[in-house]
Amino acid sequence: MRGDCRYIVYMRPSILFPLFAPLTSLRGVGPKFLPLYKRLCGGEQVADLLWHLPSGVIDRGYCPQLRYADKDRVATLTLAIVEHNPPRKHGLPYRIVGVDETEQIVITYFNAKGEYLAQLYPTNAKVVVSGLLERYRGGWAMNHPDYVVPVERAAEIPRAEPVYPLTEGLSNKMLRKTVEQALACVPDLPEWLDPALKARERWPDWKTALMAAHHPQPESAALLPGMEDSSLPILPPDAARRRIAYDEVLADQLALSVIRKHHRASAGRALAADGGLRRKLEEALPFALTQGQQKAVAEIVSDMQEPKRMLRLLQGDVGAGKTVVALMAMLQAVEAGAQAALMVPTEILARQHHATLNRMLAPLGIEVGVLVGKSRAAGRAETLQKLADGALKIVVGTHALFQDGVAFQDLGLAIIDEQHRFGVHQRLALSGKGRGVDILVMTATPIPRTLTLTAYGDMDVSRLLEKPAGRKPVDTRVVDLKRLDEVIEAVGRKLQEGAQVYWVCPLVEESEMSDLAAATERARILGERFPGQVGLAHGRLAAEEKDKAMEAFSSGATRLLVATTVIEVGVDVPNASLMVIEHAERFGLAQLHQLRGRVGRGQVSSNCLLLAQMPLGGTAKARLKLMRETEDGFRIAEEDLRLRGPGELLGLRQSGLQQFRMADLSRDQDLLEIAHDDAALVLSRDPNLESERGKALRTLLYLFARDAAVPLLRAG
Ligand code: ADP
Ligand code: MG
Repeated sequence: MRGDCRYIVYMRPSILFPLFAPLTSLRGVGPKFLPLYKRLCGGEQVADLLWHLPSGVIDRGYCPQLRYADKDRVATLTLAIVEHNPPRKHGLPYRIVGVDETEQIVITYFNAKGEYLAQLYPTNAKVVVSGLLERYRGGWAMNHPDYVVPVERAAEIPRAEPVYPLTEGLSNKMLRKTVEQALACVPDLPEWLDPALKARERWPDWKTALMAAHHPQPESAALLPGMEDSSLPILPPDAARRRIAYDEVLADQLALSVIRKHHRASAGRALAADGGLRRKLEEALPFALTQGQQKAVAEIVSDMQEPKRMLRLLQGDVGAGKTVVALMAMLQAVEAGAQAALMVPTEILARQHHATLNRMLAPLGIEVGVLVGKSRAAGRAETLQKLADGALKIVVGTHALFQDGVAFQDLGLAIIDEQHRFGVHQRLALSGKGRGVDILVMTATPIPRTLTLTAYGDMDVSRLLEKPAGRKPVDTRVVDLKRLDEVIEAVGRKLQEGAQVYWVCPLVEESEMSDLAAATERARILGERFPGQVGLAHGRLAAEEKDKAMEAFSSGATRLLVATTVIEVGVDVPNASLMVIEHAERFGLAQLHQLRGRVGRGQVSSNCLLLAQMPLGGTAKARLKLMRETEDGFRIAEEDLRLRGPGELLGLRQSGLQQFRMADLSRDQDLLEIAHDDAALVLSRDPNLESERGKALRTLLYLFARDAAVPLLRAG
């Protein structure tokens, strides 16, 4: 069984087709606006727009007489137009005076065409305007009303107007129009919810929920007389949003459960060995394994020796020493006669692990291969050959490992490092390269226990809680950016002591170019000050150049590496003992923690300088303070959760929890737990989702693009 996307797309139920139609099929979304919609809703299909929910609502139902009106509030007024006062000079505003039965109001436009306004506001006629009602110079005023219609067409003004999160170039009006079109395409879908749950939560049907979520009612609405006999169903507050959030979470939990069940049920194999190779490695290592590492190795080896398939998560903070644990697991596989593969997210990491593993395994006479992006690597054909005939037992690589041309003689163990960068598809594809492949996933994301379940499903978990002995704490300080000169002097002293230094340049949002400019410029300045010692690595460099820069730094040829966040993950240069992070206030806690984890890996004491633009905002201040106080990733995660809510939780974006569009883990954590139990119960009763509800649930999986799980059902 492979996770073949083309096949799956072909299988999508036709009832969902309208939702997966391109956004360009809607009126008003052409080549000009498509990029804006893509930026705004993260996709280019109708469903992506539907998942873009309003963040609030404007109540236009407030229709006061002016004498009794509240100021600074959106109001809808019926006015007779009394006079037009065009500007006497170009550049001055155009004013229109109107009255209701009680008082007058001045409506003001800046830069509007007179003829247009004359048409819009015929003198002596009655018009209805809606906009922000203000006081100005002792009278009523409204600037640029949002709506102006003749009184007979008053119904065109929405009673409640949803307000969407916007991006520059798209107005709320445009967005609403497009969303209304999208809503008009929404099909009725079969109900996949458990009837008891639906009743208990008083949730509406899916389509009703989606409609309601896009048409939020102002809080006052329920208080208005006449609501009771309206045809709108009266929903408990937030019910519509919670329902669709639940749908999303349920799709996710169901997919995870199916995948896990399939994995567990498919025949595994016992990778048995007496541990001779592992002992040899332990003897050759320059350090002793920590107790935590020993325990993790024991747990992994015990799984591997069982005839069932291993699915285990190795969780350990940056620098906790996961690599050597992975290596021990690989040796277990090799000694049992199988092959082992380690998949990492970037080429830099692949090459670095390749070098590290080869060095560690040299005394054992075991060769490690490397496989990265297509044609580039020399010796690729030879590596492929050796993997196919079994001459090569261990290979490290990027996602290139599971591409079509790669065949293993007998893959027994797949290890996935920093797995948050990989999707479920990729995990499946790698295990499809062998039969009964054991899987070990390694992550440095210190997700609190309660959330592990959601990110990874029910994997077995090993944790490395302690760092290797002899580590000195990283002395962390926050420094005003203005003191850059002093920082450069400090860098100079470090270099003179023989240490190496990382210098991380800030992330500039939405503009990789200026990121790059900042890093290049900083490298130039530092290069002048420390000639011949400075390297530069950033995401825009070609892979080879990036690798060259990283290799030059890790071999010690360059002493100071200026980088963007490309060094964030996994890189290991024990001689580096100073980390400078420019504009640290712009980084999230997750990144700061990961970046700082790059130093403090050797025997000497290390420093981290967080250069920040003062004065700091509240959250930035709290974040940097926390960084000073602790290096404990779990504590940082918990505090971050408290500071900002789980949506922003340390590393969640990468961990896969951020894959939710509608669910917000700070509000909906209870839904996760319900969905988890719901999914388990459904699958125990209807393992292949063949009942009526089961079929509806399949549709749900497709709806939320969790369809990697569907073929497993059919195979199941
Ligand atoms: P991570 O968990 O972040 O992947 P690594 O596996 O890269 O961490 O380990 C970080 C550093 O710690 C490496 O230089 C590694 O050689 C070293 N190391 C690992 N285990 C031990 C140990 N038991 N004692 C001393 N150093 C260790
Ligand atoms: Mg690592």
